[in-house]
Amino acid sequence: MPTHWLNPIPSLPEPLPPVVDDSEDQYRMKLQRRIRLQSMLALDADTNSLIPIPEAVREDLANIGRPTPLTRARALERRLGTPAQIYLKREDTLPTGAFKLNSAMAQVRAAKEEGAERLVTETGAGQWGHAVAFACARLGLHPTIFWAAISARQKASRHALLELLGARVESSPSSVTELGRRVGSDPTMVNGSLGLAIGEAVEYAAGHPETRYISGSNVPHVLIHQSVIGLETKAQLAALGVSPDVLIACVGGGSNLVGFMAPFFDDKAARGDDLRFVAAEAATSPRLTKGRYEYDYSDLGCNTPMVKSYTLGRDYELPPTHVGGLRQHSGSPIVGVVHHADLLEARAYEEKDIFAAGHALLMAEQILIAPESCHALLAGIEEALEAKRAGEARVIVICVSGSGTHDLEGYVEKVIKQ
Ligand SMILES: *Cc1c(COP(=O)(O)O)cnc(C)c1O
Repeated sequence: MPTHWLNPIPSLPEPLPPVVDDSEDQYRMKLQRRIRLQSMLALDADTNSLIPIPEAVREDLANIGRPTPLTRARALERRLGTPAQIYLKREDTLPTGAFKLNSAMAQVRAAKEEGAERLVTETGAGQWGHAVAFACARLGLHPTIFWAAISARQKASRHALLELLGARVESSPSSVTELGRRVGSDPTMVNGSLGLAIGEAVEYAAGHPETRYISGSNVPHVLIHQSVIGLETKAQLAALGVSPDVLIACVGGGSNLVGFMAPFFDDKAARGDDLRFVAAEAATSPRLTKGRYEYDYSDLGCNTPMVKSYTLGRDYELPPTHVGGLRQHSGSPIVGVVHHADLLEARAYEEKDIFAAGHALLMAEQILIAPESCHALLAGIEEALEAKRAGEARVIVICVSGSGTHDLEGYVEKVIKQ
């Protein structure tokens, strides 16, 4: 288990574009400083490459099952008839079924130490909400969670679990914020989105001074927390005596991707094209393949400062899908820099194809993974088939960001009914 987090910012190929607040009196920046945890603001400003993980957090991480396994998918390799080696970093084995818990434990532990008892956050697919509810139940805090309506509806079992864990869940658009009421009256917006849920959570925090706002992706401290994924992977590959040729992750806000890849940025600088990074996104929210690299707000309410990243524009109509974790209009500025510097190969995939890939993995290895993770898997399968054509024993390492236990509806619709 790593003793330090890796801060990706000092080893970025280009400096990170500053956060911009053009509001009168710097309203948005001030609001962020008021509603966020002090220790998370401090982490965002930390310029060290290596940041010690507090002992209590290391214990929390050990107690939730870290390090997670790195397993070789031999049966999948045989099915594909490929000379490539396929490794899976198994974040799906964490108790809430996704890597989100790495940051939730760290943030809720920090909240407890700062004496904050109430937290508010947003969730897209529900995995972050689940992780926050889990961590709060464990450490005795009380979360309110704004959950994009489409996913909250699709995932009745996860919804029940959040409430059983003691969380207050508001389907977004909700009736408890002004933004929610305004947007909710527009019939085209009833499905909600991550951007809307962020807007509601920020407004809620602004109106409830005893409540701190936390978030599960995009912001630097989350990407720092997620570096445990890549640090462990690097140590696990080294223990096997294996050197990776391609690392693959799916990309929503970018936290699993950056957490998984950042420990390899230095190797990339040394090895150039011999080490490749692939980012797999959803064809319905194609930010890296079709978006523009420019300043935008992360939330629909424009209550957050603007960041520069690849964005579709915050008014982009996101169609309803089963891939809630990738369903957003923009992403982390850190992913923006990495992509802008040409370090990432971005690929966008259709929903029916990613579920077929997920089903192939289930048949080969009996592992059911999240639809978000299926994007990375499909890119990995393409790499393995390409290696077969080229007759190369490529080493492919895929970050399995989460489990598909709460996504069976999607598998039913896209695999069984097809
Ligand atoms: C949240 C989530 C994602 C996308 O989030 P990133 O911040 O891009 O990593 C992907 N997969 C799963 C299972 C998730 O829960």
